[in-house]
Amino acid sequence: MRKEHLQYLACPDCKAELSLAIEEEQEGRVKTGELSCAACKLRFPVIGFIPRFVKEGHYADSFGFQWFRHAKTQLDSVIGLPISKQRFFKVTRWGEDLTGEVILEVGCGAGRFTEVIAATGAMVVSFDASRGVEVNYESNGWRDNLMLVQAELERMPFPPAFFDRAVSLGVLQHTADPHRSFLAIAFLVKKGGSFAVDVYKKSLARRLLSAKYWVRPLTARMNPTVLYTLTRAWVSFWWQPTSIIARFPQGRRINRFLFFIADYRGYLPLPAAQLKEWAVLDNFDMLSPRYDNPTTAFEVRGWFEEAGFQDVDADDEDNIVEGRGVRSALSGKAR
Ligand SMILES: [Zn+2]
Repeated sequence: MRKEHLQYLACPDCKAELSLAIEEEQEGRVKTGELSCAACKLRFPVIGFIPRFVKEGHYADSFGFQWFRHAKTQLDSVIGLPISKQRFFKVTRWGEDLTGEVILEVGCGAGRFTEVIAATGAMVVSFDASRGVEVNYESNGWRDNLMLVQAELERMPFPPAFFDRAVSLGVLQHTADPHRSFLAIAFLVKKGGSFAVDVYKKSLARRLLSAKYWVRPLTARMNPTVLYTLTRAWVSFWWQPTSIIARFPQGRRINRFLFFIADYRGYLPLPAAQLKEWAVLDNFDMLSPRYDNPTTAFEVRGWFEEAGFQDVDADDEDNIVEGRGVRSALSGKAR
C-alpha cells in the first residue's frame, strides 16, 4: 500500500478511520507498518506491502495454495490473449475508461481480473482472504492505482457506501453464505454506483450428475498438497483419452461431468500445454474449497433488489449466473 491509500480503509469492526504507523517504506510504498483503530484499539499489520486483516487458518487457505502454484496461468498479460478481459466486460458491461473512479474487487486471487480493472485507469482496491494477494502483488504490485489487501468477506475493512463500483467474479459460491456475502459487498457501493457478480449456477441436474459433488465431501477435507498431486495425476492420465471426446459438440461437457476434466479444448484458443494447466488449476479449484454454494439467477436478482439496486439484470449461461445493478438507495434490509 501507499500512504495515500489509507483513505480506502476503515476499521473492519466499527468502521472508524484507521491510522498508519510506518516501519519501513520503499519507493513510496509502505513495506511494513501497523494500522490501528483509535475507537476500538484494534491493530492490524502491514507485511510485505499488504495490509493484513486475516488470521492464519482461514477457510480460504486452499486458494492461497493454488495461486502460489498457478501465479501466472490465467493472466492475459502472460498468455497473450484477452480471456479474462472478455469475461470481465461481458459480466460487468462497464466502459473501458473508468479514470477517476474507485473500484472494489472482491476475491482477487492471483490477479487475472486485477490487471484488467487497473487498465481502466480507475483506482482499484483488491482483496482476497488467501495469500493469493502476495502472488497478485508480484504481478501487479508495481501499479500506482492499485491497493492489495488481505481481508475476509465476512469482515471487510472498508468504509460503507463508498465505492463507485464493486465486482466479484467466481467468488461468492466459495463463501459460507453467498446471500450474506452479496449484501455485505452491496452496502459498500455508493448511491449511483454499480455492482457486478458472477457465481456458479445452481441446478438439480448439476448437483446429481456432476462428479465433483460426489467426491467433494472427501476432497474438501484433504491436505492440499496430496489433493493437488492427485489432481495433476488424474488430469495427466485422462488428458489423451478424453481428447477424442472433446472434438464432439457436447464433448467438453461429457469430459467435465463424467471424466472430471475441466476441459477448455476447442473453447479457449490456448496452446495444448496451457490448456492442461488450466484443467489442473480448475479441477483443483472445484475440489479443494471448503464451500461450494451455487445459486440461481432468480435468487441473484432478489439479492440486488433487497439491497436497494435498480436496473437489475441477472441471467444464466452454461454453468454461470451473471448479475449487475445500480445502487438507487442507501436503505436496505441488511447492513
Ligand atoms: Zn474500530
